[in-house]
Amino acid sequence: KASAGQKYDYIIVGGGTAGCVLANRLTADGSKKVLVLEAGGMGGDMTSVVPAGLTRLFQHPTLDWNLFSTKQQELANREVYLARGKTLRGSSATNPTLYLRGSPADYDSWGLPGWSSKDVLPWFVSGETNSKGPSKYHGDGGAMKVESPRYYNELHGAFFEAAAAAGLPQNPDFNAWNRPQAGFGDFQVTQWNGRRADAFAAHLKPAMGRPNLQVVTGARTTKLATEKGSAVRAVGVEYTIGGPSGSRQTAELAPGGELLLCSGTAANPQLLMLSGIGPAQQLAEAGIPMVADAAGVGQNLQDHPATLWASQMKPELEHIAVTSELLTDGGQIKGAFVNTRGDSSDPDLQIRFVPGYALNPDAIQSYIKVGQLRSTKQKWPAGVTMQLLTARPKSSGTVGLRSTDPFDLPKVDLDYFADEADLQTLVAGVKTARRIAEQSPLGRHLSQEGWPGASVTSDTDLEAYVRKTACSGNALTGTCRMGLAPSDGSVVSAADFGLWGVSGLRVIDASVVPTIPGAQTGAVTFMLAERAAALLTTGTPIATAKGAAAGQLA
Ligand code: FAD
Repeated sequence: KASAGQKYDYIIVGGGTAGCVLANRLTADGSKKVLVLEAGGMGGDMTSVVPAGLTRLFQHPTLDWNLFSTKQQELANREVYLARGKTLRGSSATNPTLYLRGSPADYDSWGLPGWSSKDVLPWFVSGETNSKGPSKYHGDGGAMKVESPRYYNELHGAFFEAAAAAGLPQNPDFNAWNRPQAGFGDFQVTQWNGRRADAFAAHLKPAMGRPNLQVVTGARTTKLATEKGSAVRAVGVEYTIGGPSGSRQTAELAPGGELLLCSGTAANPQLLMLSGIGPAQQLAEAGIPMVADAAGVGQNLQDHPATLWASQMKPELEHIAVTSELLTDGGQIKGAFVNTRGDSSDPDLQIRFVPGYALNPDAIQSYIKVGQLRSTKQKWPAGVTMQLLTARPKSSGTVGLRSTDPFDLPKVDLDYFADEADLQTLVAGVKTARRIAEQSPLGRHLSQEGWPGASVTSDTDLEAYVRKTACSGNALTGTCRMGLAPSDGSVVSAADFGLWGVSGLRVIDASVVPTIPGAQTGAVTFMLAERAAALLTTGTPIATAKGAAAGQLA
């Protein structure tokens, strides 16, 4: 637990992806006392370190929060599982490690000073050490390790050839912004020598011995403590070690100290609301005394909804597919981005190709089943899968409170298909997958379509299939979005991550992303945490801050 009588310059709530970056950067010069409170344990066991352990991380009893959405009417009344890492290093320790930034337009469309593609690129570059070596788009001196995927299966080659035959261009580097994102190719990964390079390995591990850094695991923050003088100010936190009936603790900020909220897109709104910071009406309904009326808290939840297409293999070719339990690299390291709308905008569909057969049309349930194969002694049928994700969704949902008990999980309403276009992308996605699979380089390997099944052809039937099977693309963002002023519905300032109306409190993680990029969301989280850390250590405002590697853009 936090040291008795100690006051901190920074208390970081949540030792996840963003929390690890901040803890490292803020303690580097030794001048600031920093406390990290992480609800999960230390982590770092082999299930997580070896990327192939992915199948065992979903719904893991200790490394995952086991969070589910509310019943989603438009998804055949299902509660959708939302994987979230519960360990020091957060979801960076439980994800399939794909490293993608999205496209320049993803950032330009935010319309926020300091956050255009030109502004963010130097931070992506300076934050990484990439196996591709240094270039305009890649760095070789950053803390985060990125490499090209090592695993190659004959079926990957067949997928690439089939995608080309279906008319898709090849994209040699999805993170190079000198060409459109559309095309097929390798997804780079946050791994090094084939091992997961998570936020702890990149940032916290080298900092752990610093005397000015204290990391407490198993510490669930239950409330942000504030004081109301002429203005509202964060003064510390309440937390519990050892579950609901465990030991209750407090940690205090030193004068001028700050609370950095990094507990992620689902937990942040819950913690804020439990602390009286949120939409006035919701606070009143929950009987929580209002500290600050922050209408945007919990709004603007975005994710990449996903479905899949899968086919079995011809028996004589079965040996090519992955049928052993261990999927190298989590199996989805190659794929494509496709614009199914036929206009000039960025792709609305991401395809993640897996040289193994999905055991369930819900991709996450399929992984869980694959992980269970050994214990049930079942054979894994050979085949291929294309996971299909709405890459740039227009819909948004909300995060709120289920109750005022901080040990309850938050109430998450995804509302995936609030905008019909997001459903249509997945319907078009199944058709696109079929078009690629029909091409002879891939088609010659395949026998029978398993999901959705050859009889599911009409748009009505395809829509029903998507609604019945859609799962999370594990990219929750946006519930504390950054903006220009409280009047635009934002929660924090895009200039400094400060929460409107409360001093000494900043939100720094995936929850501040205003609009989800067409990419998995680890990269954007690392980038914005690096920027926040530079702001806090140098005091340079975001809008005029130059990336550490800005020179590389010249
Ligand atoms: P997290 O990294 O989740 O950190 C939040 C931390 O806060 C956690 O450690 C949590 O335990 C802690 N916490 C929560 N509540 C409390 C509390 N009350 N008190 C104390 N601590 C608390 N991104 C990619 O780039 N590539 C991928 O391939 C990819 N696939 C994904 C697959 C899965 C299964 C998941 C879950 C995510 C995936 N992502 C991927 C997304 C990416 O991992 C996240 O966007 C990113 O890690 C979010 O970082 P964060 O700092 O916002 O939250």
